[in-house]
Amino acid sequence: MLVVLMGPPGAGKGTQAEKITKEFALLHISTGDILRAAVKEKTPLGIKAKEYMDRGALVPDELIINIMKDRLAKPDCAGGALLDGFPRTVEQAEALENVLTDLNMELDAVINVDVSADELIDRLTGRRVCRSCGTTYHLKFNPPRVRSICDHCSGGLYQRSDDTVDTVKERLEVYGKQTLPLIEYYQRKNLYFAVDGSRPIDEVFEDISAYLQERKEE
Ligand code: ADP
Ligand code: AMP
Repeated sequence: MLVVLMGPPGAGKGTQAEKITKEFALLHISTGDILRAAVKEKTPLGIKAKEYMDRGALVPDELIINIMKDRLAKPDCAGGALLDGFPRTVEQAEALENVLTDLNMELDAVINVDVSADELIDRLTGRRVCRSCGTTYHLKFNPPRVRSICDHCSGGLYQRSDDTVDTVKERLEVYGKQTLPLIEYYQRKNLYFAVDGSRPIDEVFEDISAYLQERKEE
């Protein structure tokens, strides 16, 4: 099964992706994680991407499309994957379609996690991430058992450099202008499923899980 998980920054894509990939045995491919790893390693891609990420802009389509073209061609994707944070523009969605046709693969579902802008600002500014295993927490809504320590691996938690109020506002604007048109794009293809992401994490997951189970059995 090949699934796209979309939604504004902070909607809970990463949080839900962790649960979905476990339940449905899918590979988790997050373009944000790929880019952050490249930035950390200071690769040529990372150096180029950092400039865009720091100001809350999307990295150029061509760059991200090439990364995903290579990633999806790897044999580990054959068992199914969840794409988290890609596509984010109509151009990326069209490129994805072409890549999948070339690879003889097909998209099974597009899930949009929907949350209001006010809630997103609270979620993003309170987000903390484990430096070692990448698990995501929230200071108020999903805190670790011990402050600043990961429940799973005891790693230290950090705040992403793009989770500041100003950058978050820019990212939300970019989402509205560049990513929102994707909803109509996928609605027209009958692949689209919207879930109200303002509810507790487990309730959101229940809806997504029920929908994917249906798609899987079709
Ligand atoms: P995204 O990957 O879409 O940017 P995350 O999964 O990182 O979003 O979630 C953003 C923040 O909101 C994190 O701090 C996470 O713990 C918190 N969060 C995720 N889902 C919920 C929810 N349903 N209710 C409250 N907080 C949530
Ligand atoms: P995320 O972790 O999904 O919030 O992404 C963090 C940042 O990485 C974004 O603000 C963008 O700068 C960049 N990014 C991630 N995915 C994409 C994408 N599909 N297209 C362009 N830029 C992306």
